[in-house]
Amino acid sequence: MFAAVIDRRYSRKMIVRARIVVTMDGKAIEDGAVRVTGNRIVEAGKFSAFASDNNEIIDLGESVLLPGLINAHCHLDYTCLRGKIPRQKSFTNWIRVINAEKAKLTAEDYVTSINAGFAEAQRFGTTTIANLTAFPELIAKINPPIRPWWFAELIDVREPERANEMVESATDSLKRTENWGLAPHAPFTASENLSRDCQEIALRENILLTTHLAESCEEMEMFRDASGPLYQFLKEIGREMTDCGYDTPLRRFLRRLGDASLGGWIVAHLNELSESDFDLLREIRHKFSIAHCPRSHAYFGHVAFQFERLQRLGFNVCLGTDSLASNDDLSLFAEMRAFQKQFPKVPAERILEMVTINPAHALRQENELGRIERGFLADMIALPFTTSENVYQTILNFVGKVPWFMLHGRTVAID
Ligand SMILES: [Zn+2]
Repeated sequence: MFAAVIDRRYSRKMIVRARIVVTMDGKAIEDGAVRVTGNRIVEAGKFSAFASDNNEIIDLGESVLLPGLINAHCHLDYTCLRGKIPRQKSFTNWIRVINAEKAKLTAEDYVTSINAGFAEAQRFGTTTIANLTAFPELIAKINPPIRPWWFAELIDVREPERANEMVESATDSLKRTENWGLAPHAPFTASENLSRDCQEIALRENILLTTHLAESCEEMEMFRDASGPLYQFLKEIGREMTDCGYDTPLRRFLRRLGDASLGGWIVAHLNELSESDFDLLREIRHKFSIAHCPRSHAYFGHVAFQFERLQRLGFNVCLGTDSLASNDDLSLFAEMRAFQKQFPKVPAERILEMVTINPAHALRQENELGRIERGFLADMIALPFTTSENVYQTILNFVGKVPWFMLHGRTVAID
């Protein structure tokens, strides 16, 4: 199976050597090496055990070689809003302010913003990114330097009669890309019609779905109590509010989806959970993936993320950066450090899994991405190895531009 999937357009053969190779299947190989043929990893092991076979050797010296990082949730549309939105007193206020900022942007601004976001993510060692865009029609104008999973972010709260047309037109744009999915934005902005359409397409096309769920206490107040600032704001703009006053956001989400279709979802945030929500989560057979965004979470001051409980229940927790409208930069290293500050007992190796093997699984790429292993795509990065402390902690501590980057078997010079 393996030989058949080598992309023969890139027939280059090489051995990449480093002081330590972190494979993400439990091994940290001292004086390690990875053999790459074309776009694929052929083997990883001790450099001394490798026959050179006249292969080109790239010696990275005192470096740690590891899989490229995977960002499970971001919105590159808003890269240009970095520093523009000071912390607000409520989540609803933030929505008002970002809407005002968005109104000033043109299509060209968004293209510039998305391109800048891709370049920044790459500088920080991200090789794959799950990116939500509100402008799928702009995707054709963008040539990403890393692997994108494009999700069309769909909001029909102001025009629910257009739900159908919106999903169709987004799907047309997305189908021209390799990896895509749909993102009914959130239960308060995407109608039931829109979400149902997305789900039908997901089943038909075998694509992924993502959404924001139970992010803020205002969302909880809105759905459970039919009150609060988010409830008032959405009522003012004309949203049909008859689904409020009964359920928690999670219960409402689950009520509308069958258990069987949950496996393909990446649910962003999931902060606001009641005890009865945990009972529901326990019963779910097809556990979805969860994208937690530590620094965006801190920016909004949400209630503590229930990492341990969610993980114990079998949910696949990944990290994301969210957008620069609520974060400082697109570094997953900074995201891992912010997570570690909140959860100091979680080993660094487990945290690194949240930006490698866990998001690979969320994107259904667990046999292609996130590890340095035979047959996997050769997406790798190298960092300086500076101390003799735990190698995983050395990785988490990395700050700055990644000095060495390989995507699809090709080394890339980063600006
Ligand atoms: Zn988001």
